[in-house]
Amino acid sequence: MHTVTLIGSNRTLNVGKIVCLGRNYLDHIRELNNEVPDAPVIFCKPASSLLENNGKILIPAYSDDCHHELELALLIGEKGKQIPEADANNYICGYAVALDLTLRDVQARQKEKGLPWEIAKGFDTSCPLSRFVCADQINDPDNLRLSLKVNGQLRQQGNTNMMMRSVARIVSEISGFYTLEEGDIILTGTPAGVGPIVSGDLLEGEIEQVGQLRVSVA
Ligand code: MG
Repeated sequence: MHTVTLIGSNRTLNVGKIVCLGRNYLDHIRELNNEVPDAPVIFCKPASSLLENNGKILIPAYSDDCHHELELALLIGEKGKQIPEADANNYICGYAVALDLTLRDVQARQKEKGLPWEIAKGFDTSCPLSRFVCADQINDPDNLRLSLKVNGQLRQQGNTNMMMRSVARIVSEISGFYTLEEGDIILTGTPAGVGPIVSGDLLEGEIEQVGQLRVSVA
């Protein structure tokens, strides 16, 4: 069983599903020449994909092109289905810095064949995650600067105010497809600047008020 703990509380949650939103920042959609979606683009990672702070990323042998995607992660604190957008923030108990690691070559092959992407997105260590801070420590989740450095060089920089879907809308829409349960995690999409990582790289992600994530590639 995978668990996460909220900083500053004694609360430990068992991780359920990890639901990820794709194509939520216009600048990232443009850099990959994707279409702007009408409906949310959603996929899941298994809990076995989690990697703790200071962990080592293991790029699978079936890929030569693993990309970083820096994202704000939400932790769901209580069960809900078809949650109205106006109530959605009450279901979030924590925020963390996450990476949605993606095997871009495998994903491209799967897309071309019209097949699911899971093997490009859900491999072991594909979801590095910082510790979660309590939601009440965050003033406005829709206005947080985020940045990622690889080996000290800035690769991704943005603000959650650039997201096409707000945090509340994301929770509301996902809860229309899946019942959200305590311990579920949601990844909210990545800004522009995604790129490859290779063995020995050090990745340092930071989100204002939320914290830092530091992992390296084995
Ligand atoms: Mg992503």
